[in-house]
Amino acid sequence: MPSKKQNKLLSKSAMHGTVFDISSMSAEAVQDSYNANMGAIEISNRATQASMSGDYRTAAALHRQALALKLKTFPETSVQAAISFNGLGESLLSLQDLSGAEEALSKALRVRDDKTFGGLGEGPRFDAAVTRENMAQLREAQGRFEEAKEMRMRGKSKGHIACGNDKCPGQLFLLSALKSCSVCSCVFYCSPDCQKKDWARHKGPCKKEKERRKEKEAQEAQAKLESEAPTTAEQTAEAET
Ligand SMILES: [Zn+2]
Ligand SMILES: [Zn+2]
Repeated sequence: MPSKKQNKLLSKSAMHGTVFDISSMSAEAVQDSYNANMGAIEISNRATQASMSGDYRTAAALHRQALALKLKTFPETSVQAAISFNGLGESLLSLQDLSGAEEALSKALRVRDDKTFGGLGEGPRFDAAVTRENMAQLREAQGRFEEAKEMRMRGKSKGHIACGNDKCPGQLFLLSALKSCSVCSCVFYCSPDCQKKDWARHKGPCKKEKERRKEKEAQEAQAKLESEAPTTAEQTAEAET
């Protein structure tokens, strides 16, 4: 018969999608991991609050603390660790620490978007879509717009695309239910209101992308003109006859 504590741990674990086997652990180890996980959840909640109030530096520090606690019990590839890696990645992206964000979001994506954990199939589908959206926003910041679009389109076949506004209430969308940015067509929104709310973030990368495309077009037009135009030698020859 499992003790009351073990029952409680089981139900908590079920809530957070834990897959580890407590039947093989000593009562003490079970209690330790339970305490560590509860402590981590409390720290995670504080991190989310800090992030919501725009204090990303504090949020990142708290996500790291929560992660350190979680990794005492859960592997890096656990659903629990993925929550913290995703939160840490979001905070670092807001702080413009792109390489830090890349590392953290890659770890979250590996768990959330991996079929073993249900990424595009069963399991935490919304979580997977949110991490793909975060990764896409990182690609935008890196000036890799085609990859940003590809990342978002990974959810297309199942209608698992998150709105580009990260404050949009948790929902998954079909591509047909979303409108894309008219300038870059790489980011999707469920409403004009959501597009407006995300503009403060998207404006910078989108304008840079517009410049890049303009420059590329000009270069291509120039190259075309040069390949069609007669060479200087031919021009000289024509002038002499
Ligand atoms: Zn755009
Ligand atoms: Zn939305």
